[in-house]
Amino acid sequence: MTSMLQVGVIGTGMIGQDHIRRMTSVLAGVRVSAVADVDTAVAAAVGARVGAPAFESGEALIADPSVDAVVVCSWGPTHEQYVLAAIAAGKPVFCEKPLATTQEACLRIIEAEAAYGSRLVQVGYMRRYDDAYRALKAVVGSGQIGAPLMMHCAHRNASVPGFYEKEMAITDTAVHEIDMVRWMFGAEITGVRVLVPRRSANGGELQDPLFMLLEMANGVLVDVEISVNIRYGYDIRGEIVGEDGTASLGSLSPVHVRRAGLASDPVPGDWRERFLRAYDVEFQEWIDALRAGGQPVGPSAWDGYAAAVVSDAGVAALRSGSHVPVTLADRPKLYTTEVAA
Ligand code: NAP
Repeated sequence: MTSMLQVGVIGTGMIGQDHIRRMTSVLAGVRVSAVADVDTAVAAAVGARVGAPAFESGEALIADPSVDAVVVCSWGPTHEQYVLAAIAAGKPVFCEKPLATTQEACLRIIEAEAAYGSRLVQVGYMRRYDDAYRALKAVVGSGQIGAPLMMHCAHRNASVPGFYEKEMAITDTAVHEIDMVRWMFGAEITGVRVLVPRRSANGGELQDPLFMLLEMANGVLVDVEISVNIRYGYDIRGEIVGEDGTASLGSLSPVHVRRAGLASDPVPGDWRERFLRAYDVEFQEWIDALRAGGQPVGPSAWDGYAAAVVSDAGVAALRSGSHVPVTLADRPKLYTTEVAA
């Protein structure tokens, strides 16, 4: 395909609007040709801003010939139906995380895609497109620090909305680390443990922070601090300890200011600011792959399934206080490697 990729967006809420903005004003080779949302008035208003008609349902959008590829940004419980409908129509589909809200639903998607015979699905795990994470992975891959042994991660949010519940620290927040370490080390996660530290008064009734331990099939051990009311900003950290050295995500600031006896380094306010460029790169690479006539190469339906299984194990570990093993189904041949590129 050499012409513009015509994309239909289902779900015109917060992230749907942001992806429409980037496809309309930032990225090349793409046009938003259709939108849909359960709130048809919002869909009509968002569509009108970019000259895209609003469809009465996601299914009608998927079926329309003006749509070459689908982006699913509706809320999680609706993802399965739209991804399955896109596969049935033979159209590539980029689905915001989660792929689906249960492991069983993820397996139904895998089964449908495997029956179709080639990859159509990409899941929105954007850390894989972040410059700093990519540089970290390149250092590990170069062998400079020897074999990786451990990784220390921190996922700190300034605050979370009132509806945020304890288990969302794993299913919504740490799920990004779950996907990132599978990609970073090219291996599956085999076991999870969650420890519960003293509770922060900033979180009210919420159990915050949590401390999660992930065991990987290659022996790497990962710890993840999840603090969602840290107040000072959005701070994502990662340090890999290898046999011969360590490598960590660098400072995000292009400038360091020293004044009045203080050295300061700005901290992003939220994930939109921190991963702004990663979302752009993620979508541009998806668009480029499809326009070149290829399949999506980013996070696959298998990756979405694996993240769901590990996050379920994390929730079970949080509830029980015990170690929970992770067992995955047999991986269909379509997913040639454990973790997509
Ligand atoms: P949001 O603002 O609530 O947007 C979701 C939109 O989908 C809303 O407009 C909602 O309408 C609509 N919707 C609900 N059911 C639908 C249906 N059956 N058909 C079509 N549209 C429907 O939520 P959001 O924050 O944008 O999140 C959307 C998805 O993106 C979630 O899965 C979330 O996990 C994911 N996300 C990913 C990242 C990331 O870092 N990769 C970041 C943020 C969000 P109503 O409001 O009327 O229900």
